[in-house]
Amino acid sequence: MEHELWDGAHDARDAGFDTDQPGTPERQWREALATVPRWRPAGIALVVVAPHPDDESLGAGGLIHECASGTALVRVISVTDGEAARGDVPDLAAVRRRELQAALSCLAPRPVQWERLSVPDVKVSAFESSIEAAIDARVPTGAMLAAPFEHDGHPDHDAVGRVCLRIARRRAMTLLRYPIWSWHQRGIDAFREARLVCFELSPSAQLAKARALRCFVSQLRAGPEPAVLPAHVLEYFARPYETFLL
Ligand SMILES: [Zn+2]
Repeated sequence: MEHELWDGAHDARDAGFDTDQPGTPERQWREALATVPRWRPAGIALVVVAPHPDDESLGAGGLIHECASGTALVRVISVTDGEAARGDVPDLAAVRRRELQAALSCLAPRPVQWERLSVPDVKVSAFESSIEAAIDARVPTGAMLAAPFEHDGHPDHDAVGRVCLRIARRRAMTLLRYPIWSWHQRGIDAFREARLVCFELSPSAQLAKARALRCFVSQLRAGPEPAVLPAHVLEYFARPYETFLL
């Protein structure tokens, strides 16, 4: 399968971003995504790679629910423990690991396999070759791979996206690239040249995803530092579908 590299060179993808800003309104995305072709998984094994605990649920929680409702293998790989997301929560790595375990139990009616690579948060790009080998060894033949969009705008997301793109190309795998920060940072023309599909979420998948996202308390609540996932960002992940770049 051919995976076209999206040409994002015109975009300030390496610029920092600020979730205090409102970002692109969700209603604009819903209008723009209304005509995107619908897609369904083929009942094969699924491996979801997440730079930080919560990305798997935000980007592909409904897909995890759907696949874990069948008999195919479902595996989640956490590249980091997300320990650098904020400085005002003690032992954040352990907190986020627990949040993810709770979220996965909401998403999946049966236990899914969860593996951690324990790469330092915000330093993923320094370990791309070892991460590539580790992920490659954890993706069974014939599985589909879900990973962040390689121009999502967060350096860890972009690095994991690049790694998974290389694996998928080499092994001719189906790769589902999920945007996270792109929804906030980019405008409705962002994916004009990409092949997008929408996976419709069943009512049970929508409910499971909503419950799972509520588990990430360390990202949802403001403390001395602002919430990582404020309400206007969470709107992007309350859609009755998930959007992937093929
Ligand atoms: Zn992330």
